[in-house]
Amino acid sequence: MKTTRFLFGLMFLLGLTATLNKATAHEEKKSEEKKPSKVEYAIVVHGGAGGNPASWSDRQKETRIAAMTEAVNIGKKILAEGGTSLDAVEQVVRYLENNPMFNAGRGAVFTAAGKNELDAAIMDGSNMKCGAVAGVTTVKNPISLARKVMTETKHVLLISGGAETFADEMEVERVDPDYFKTRGRKEEQERAQEIDKINAQRLAQGLPELKEKYSYVGTVGCVALDKHGNLAAATSTGGMSNKKYGRVGDVPIIGAGTFADNRICGISCTGHGEEFIRHSAAHEVSAMMKYGGKSLQEASNAVIHETLKGFDGGMICIDKEGNISMPFNTRGMPRAAADSNGLFEVKLGIEE
Ligand code: ASP
Repeated sequence: MKTTRFLFGLMFLLGLTATLNKATAHEEKKSEEKKPSKVEYAIVVHGGAGGNPASWSDRQKETRIAAMTEAVNIGKKILAEGGTSLDAVEQVVRYLENNPMFNAGRGAVFTAAGKNELDAAIMDGSNMKCGAVAGVTTVKNPISLARKVMTETKHVLLISGGAETFADEMEVERVDPDYFKTRGRKEEQERAQEIDKINAQRLAQGLPELKEKYSYVGTVGCVALDKHGNLAAATSTGGMSNKKYGRVGDVPIIGAGTFADNRICGISCTGHGEEFIRHSAAHEVSAMMKYGGKSLQEASNAVIHETLKGFDGGMICIDKEGNISMPFNTRGMPRAAADSNGLFEVKLGIEE
């Protein structure tokens, strides 16, 4: 009798342990399922900060959404197939430079002298190598010339005449300067000139300048993290409408408008270039993360909403883990993001 009771007791205990083990295994599996898997690759694209999507026509909204979708898909395909982040950002920016809707390549804004002077930069976060060009007028895709400055010279930034001579020595497509001109941009420049004239008169009368809200112009940029863990950033622009002779914005200034460091993050900016230069905006985000322990979200929001207070713009960023942040303080900034975990979004402004 005693033996039977002992055997029953033993069987009960064994059964209980098995049930408990099963429950623990189940819990473990559940928590494994809950943990999001590591991002293998990620990509973000912007089509420039400024303007208010609520005032854009349906056609403008549709075409901007379509261009952002196409752009992010070009980069995503390269990354999904194991390509490099450098190739992805260059190809995305080339596509946007060729699209006259954006202020980069064809469709760039006009200078005060009625020309189109283009700036672009690219950075390889795996080795901190970077290349940039400023004030070029005959290079169809300035971003590709910027990449050649990075790979074919020991320099970082080549400007105007020098950059054109370098282009003569490289295999890059050249165009007549008229290729970049579009009617819409000419009209924009005429409006900007009128405002400048009014402001000159107001200043002479001791009145404050009229501050026009930063309107949409369409600088372009792309940041990517590839399957090899490398970050890259690229930005291209015609700069600010009605800009003075020789003006260079933040885009080709490494650390201001463009930056990438595998150990931290990659960034491409858009907005009032002078202010981004004054604050080394892109590098500031990286420094806040590196030395201040801030997350990508915290650092990028601090720069856009606190540091740049009063000046308009935005940025797109990816950190080394594949986290994404795209803050802007204007009403609009066409942008797109995708990653290997199924993220895919395309947006125009803040109201969505
Ligand atoms: N940041 C560019 C520049 O100042 C302009 C822009 O992003 O709209 O040249």
